[in-house]
Formats: sequence, C-alpha cells, structure tokens
Amino acid sequence: MLEMSFRKSLAELEEERRIKIIEQRRVPIRRGKVYIIKERCKECGFCIDNCPSKVLVKSEDVNERGYHYPVVVEEPPLKVCIACGFCSLICPDFAIFSVPIESDDEFGGRS
Ligand code: SF4
Ligand code: SF4
Repeated sequence: MLEMSFRKSLAELEEERRIKIIEQRRVPIRRGKVYIIKERCKECGFCIDNCPSKVLVKSEDVNERGYHYPVVVEEPPLKVCIACGFCSLICPDFAIFSVPIESDDEFGGRS
C-alpha cells in the first residue's frame, strides 16, 4: 500500500514537472487539428484505439449510415493531438486526418 502511494506520488511529480516544462515553453509541442469526414466512418474504432494521445472518443451522434464516428476530446496541455498522422494511416475508409498547427497557441505551440 505504501509502495503504491509512493509510486502514485512519483507519477504526479513527473506530470507536474512535464506541465511546468511545457508552460515555460522550453519544449516545442507539436499540435494538430483533426479533421473527421464523419459520413465515411464505419465505426471500426481503429483510430480511437490506436491514437497515442487518446484524444479520440466515439460520438454520441451517428452519421447518416447509423455509425458512431470519432470526435476529439483534448485536455491541454498534455492530452492533445500531436499530429502524428497515425489515425489517417490506420483508417480503412480515409475518414480522418490531422494537420499540424503552425502558429503558437496558448498551450506552448511551436518555439
Ligand atoms: S494525428 Fe495522432 S494524436 Fe492526432 S488524433 Fe490522429 S492518432 Fe491521435
Ligand atoms: S478508423 Fe476510420 S472508419 Fe474506423 S472509427 Fe476511425 S474514422 Fe471511423
């Protein structure tokens, strides 16, 4: 039990350290804007399951074919789209892609 709480506090400290570094803008953060062509989506869930940042979740609405498509839910500064492009690579229906955000933004942006 003691070991578990020690581990948790180390994890919390590490997260605080990362947030601090980001806030001080010492690390350029790659950000992406995600585009979803919802009518192409067939709800396979590959993009949601494989997004390294875990910013994709299933929509509550359905598209015109009755499928739940992905939507983006970010929690800056750490849980954001990093424009890795993996979702567009893995989507069998070419229904999602991400474009790097070029300008600075409130979360650190590019340096
Ligand atoms: S580009 Fe990468 S980080 Fe952004 S939504 Fe797609 S898989 Fe996730
Ligand atoms: S990988 Fe493509 S088809 Fe599958 S859920 Fe994501 S957007 Fe929809």
